[in-house]
Parts: sequence; structure tokens; C-alpha cells
Amino acid sequence: MESFNELNISKQMQYAIADLGFEKPTPIQARSFSVIMSGTDMVGIAQTGTGKTFAYMLPILQDLKFSKETNPRVLVMVPTRELVLQVVEEIEKFGKYSSIRVIGVFGGTNINRQKEAVAEGADIIVATPGRLYDLVVSRALQLKAIKKVVIDEVDVMLDLGFRFQLTNILELLPTKRQNIMFSATMTDDVNVFIHDFFIAPKTVSVAVSGTPLENISQFAYAVPNFYTKANLLKHLLQNENDFKKVLIFVPNKKSADLLFDILDEYFGSEVAVIHSNKTQNYRIRSIENFNAKKTRILVTTDVMARGLDLDQISHVINFDVPNFPENYMHRIGRTGRAEQEGTAILLYTEKEQDAKATIEGLMNLKIAKLEFPKEVEISKQLTYEEQPQVVEINNPTSAEEAGPAFHEKKAKNKKENLGGSYKRIIKQKYKKPKTRGDKNFRKNKRGK
Ligand code: AMP
Repeated sequence: MESFNELNISKQMQYAIADLGFEKPTPIQARSFSVIMSGTDMVGIAQTGTGKTFAYMLPILQDLKFSKETNPRVLVMVPTRELVLQVVEEIEKFGKYSSIRVIGVFGGTNINRQKEAVAEGADIIVATPGRLYDLVVSRALQLKAIKKVVIDEVDVMLDLGFRFQLTNILELLPTKRQNIMFSATMTDDVNVFIHDFFIAPKTVSVAVSGTPLENISQFAYAVPNFYTKANLLKHLLQNENDFKKVLIFVPNKKSADLLFDILDEYFGSEVAVIHSNKTQNYRIRSIENFNAKKTRILVTTDVMARGLDLDQISHVINFDVPNFPENYMHRIGRTGRAEQEGTAILLYTEKEQDAKATIEGLMNLKIAKLEFPKEVEISKQLTYEEQPQVVEINNPTSAEEAGPAFHEKKAKNKKENLGGSYKRIIKQKYKKPKTRGDKNFRKNKRGK
């Protein structure tokens, strides 16, 4: 599609698009527009960077007529607070010339202030599922006017264990509504979720990961352990001219803090870290500073970085090898965007060689190995996880050896996840599906 004019959009939206300097719709935008406008449920498979926020907001805003209704008519759910802020900001840009009222709500902040904001009324509410549910339960927010619901980054939401909250919320929504979701990957969990709540959805997907691999140069260093990886990083990052804006992925919060402390001593205010244990203000400031190029180096976990629109990254450094190859693709896709060249560097230990081979298999590409620089010190120090585990004869540590002490859950504590909702059990006695989840579930049971 060559221009936004082909989409037949309102004047107000055209002005907003002109202000943003967008010339033509991205593929996901061009392909989602008519599907969402038609009112059918939609599943979009696309990553951050493909323009997916606008892909759902453009048709939604186009369809949203002025109203004095206090209760929101559109609900957008996202997995993290940062994403709430980012999406609200995007909506405000697109809705610049229309009188759209949008509010964002998320956990970790004063709920009373959010209650006041909700009471003032909004057309669109952007939320993390937990806080949204709290607002509904405390009757500060009513969902009865919701006509369209967007669930963004569904795969991350399910990974984070939000299934229960999502299910609860979806069941509180009016049955007559349009469901739209976006996911970077189509996992089994996502499939089950769609099956439970969506009605005959149309799938719109853009090329796997949407990442132009040819824009990204990939390299790997074989490194024996964590502290040597840190030494190598210190060495590489000294080169400020090349390593202009660096995103470093680590596997968990603990490694994030450990690595940050090491780099902080060396690079001071040039480096920041984000993970879920950091306060919200700290996280927001870190991302803003990184985007504004005030900090050069950002250490992050996979979950924290997903969905964030970080631009012009010169280097993605994989401090570990992700166990899921998709995560590697998501990580490196943060560089080499918008026709720019980017570099991805992978640091792998002997133990991580197999995971690296799996990733190479998926890409059908061997990552070029670089010589470990002679001037970098090889550390003998090992992290707790790297130390050989001594098993005391009478004090076995693995679950298998531990025997009966590692007992099965009691029957009453075992929960079987059938998808759909707990209400199904109660409502089954009425022999009538009361929710979409139940309907689908019953249909499947009959089909079997
Ligand atoms: P998203 O995938 O929604 O996170 O968007 C990634 C970035 O692309 C955001 O900074 C958008 O402002 C930008 N963007 C969205 N649509 C377009 C477009 N049609 N042309 C150029 N940039 C766009």
C-alpha cells in the first residue's frame, strides 16, 4: 500500500499522521485495517517495531465517535507499566485532532488517584490486567460499555502468569464485543487462549519476527564464565565510537543486578538497568534516559524489554544464550531496525553451546565466531550457580534423589487447567453456556 489515503481515514487522523511524518502504512497496518473495521475478531502476529500499536489504533480511532459516555468503550491490556505509558502516549499522538479521552492505569502506584481519573470518564482505557481488575472489583470502573478489547503482547502476558486475571476480566466484559490480540509468537498457550475467548478470528501475520536479518551483523565469543563475560564487556564497551547505544540482555534479575554493579563501577552514569524489582520511577527514568541517549548502556531482562519501543540501538549484547531461540530473535530484532545497520553479539559458555546451535539451526545461519581478545583477563571467579555442586551423601539436593520428601501435591491442591473459567463448573448445572469460554469449551467437548 502506497499511502494512507487508500484507507479512507478521517481528516483528523490524516493531520495527525502528517504531523508524525508517517508516509505510508506498514504491512501490519495495511492488512489489519479492513479486518478490524469489519468488526470480526482478529489475531495479529507481529512484533514491536512493526507499527502494531497504530495497526489496531488506526481503525479503532477511526470508528470511535464522540460520546459523553463516562465508561470506557475501548480497553487495551498490556503486560507492563512501561507499555501502558507508551501506548497512552501513542494514542495521544494519533488522537491529537480528535477529542479522544484516554487514561492509563497500572499497578505499583496510588490506586486512589487512578480511581479519580477513571471517575472523570474516558473513551479508551489502557491497563495492566492486575490493576484493571482491582479497579473493577472496587467498583471504581465499569466495563459494561466496552465494545472493543485489545490484548497486546499476549504471549508475554501468559508467560508472566496473567492468564487468570485476563480470564476474569474477559468474563466481565459484554459478550457482544470485538476481540483483537497481538502476539509476537504463536505458542500453544496463546492458541488455547484464542480458542477459549475468540469467535472465528481472522489471523493477520507479518513475516516471522518481522526482523530483517540481513541488516544485523551477528558475532559470537566463546567465554568460560560470568566474570570473564563481564571483563570482555568492559573491554568492548570502552569503544564509545562504535558502541553508541547498547542493549544488554541477561537471563534474570540477579544477573542484571550483578552485571550492573560491575559495569556501574566502570562506566558510572553511562549505564542503567531495568528489571521488575526496580521501582517504577527508576524504570521509567532509565528508559527515558536511554532513549534520549543520556545513558549509553542499558542492562535488561527479556520480559522487561519486550514491547518497549527502543530506537537506534547500535548493539544488542546477549550476555547469555536464551533457551528459547525465539527470544534470541526478539532480542537481536532490537537493532538493525528501520533500514539501519545493527550488530548483535552473543557471549556463550561451553554449557551454552547446544542452545547456540539450536538458534543457528533456526536461522539457518552460523554466527561468526570472534577471537577472544588477548588483553582481556580470564577470571577464575565463579558465580554461585557456576560452582560445582557438592552433593552430601546424606543430604541429596536434586528432586529425584530427595525421594518422598519431595512429595506430590495433595489431590485438593491439584488444579487442572481446562481453559475457560472456573465459573464453568458452577454454570454447568444450568446446562447453558453463559460465556464465550464456556461455549467453546462445551463445543469442543461435544466434538470429541
Ligand atoms: P510499534 O510496533 O507499534 O511499537 O511501533 C514502532 C514505531 O514505529 C513507533 O515509534 C511508531 O511511532 C512507528 N511507526 C508506526 N507506524 C509507522 C508508519 N506507518 N510509518 C513510520 N513509522 C511508524
